[in-house]
Amino acid sequence: MMPALAALVTGGSRGIGRACCLNLAANGFHVAVNYRQEEAQAAQVVAEIEAAGGKAFALQGDVSEPGVAERMVQAVLAETGRLDVLVNNAGITRDNLVLRMSDEEFAAVLDTNLVGAFRLVRAALRPMLKQRGGRIINISSIAGMVGNPGQANYAAAKAGMLGLTRSVAKEVASRGITVNAVAPGLIDTEMSDAIKGRDQLVANIPLGRAGTPEEVAAAVAFLASAEAAYITGATLPVDGGLAAG
Ligand code: NDP
Repeated sequence: MMPALAALVTGGSRGIGRACCLNLAANGFHVAVNYRQEEAQAAQVVAEIEAAGGKAFALQGDVSEPGVAERMVQAVLAETGRLDVLVNNAGITRDNLVLRMSDEEFAAVLDTNLVGAFRLVRAALRPMLKQRGGRIINISSIAGMVGNPGQANYAAAKAGMLGLTRSVAKEVASRGITVNAVAPGLIDTEMSDAIKGRDQLVANIPLGRAGTPEEVAAAVAFLASAEAAYITGATLPVDGGLAAG
């Protein structure tokens, strides 16, 4: 029997990452559920997947730390023998108006959201190049496309992810590896609970509501599927029309 295809989802313990883990597992992937500190939540995601007949394991690692990406990719290879899909989902916010933003606030968001994603892309490409195939999906944000007051650090990191996506897509296209971004708008998670002026934001969404983590996961699962083989270097907004203009 062919071993199951394997997927690594960073920040898989809750929110959008959790929904990606559940969807990919339901689609037959053996899923590595990465988390930074909430071990119990990651274990809960693994338990849910196993209860539904899928395969998963929890994988601790802070993506902002050097060396962690390589260690996590090695751990996935040791557990599953392969790596077919990387979902760079782990992300943080440290919102502040730019005049008040500290170097630490700017650097922390860049280190997790952009540098962490870069290191995972680099580490994941090695097995993917050997396998002559793979899918990388970067969770950006519409903040990286249109900007957001109070989020200069976050928007810069998320815009950086789009440049990373397009450049790596061109580098590895000839090797059967696709690299795409998903740009969520306002999605109901713990992260968006903290957003200031949430009601005003919802009022500006053409579809009239926030999205769900499952709706983002559906786009990720599509980009990870065989049907998306001809899509690379693209950014798919999942935002209820917010970035449409
Ligand atoms: P949550 O805050 O709900 O979850 C964040 C996840 O990332 C957790 O699993 C957390 O793990 C993990 N994480 C955070 N830092 C690290 C780190 N250094 N290393 C490893 N894992 C880490 O976020 P969302 O689900 O809302 O967001 C997921 C992604 O989607 C983020 O990249 C975010 O920027 C993006 N996004 C979200 C939007 C929204 O409206 N919610 C809109 C647009 C984009 P732990 O619990 O262990 O800390």
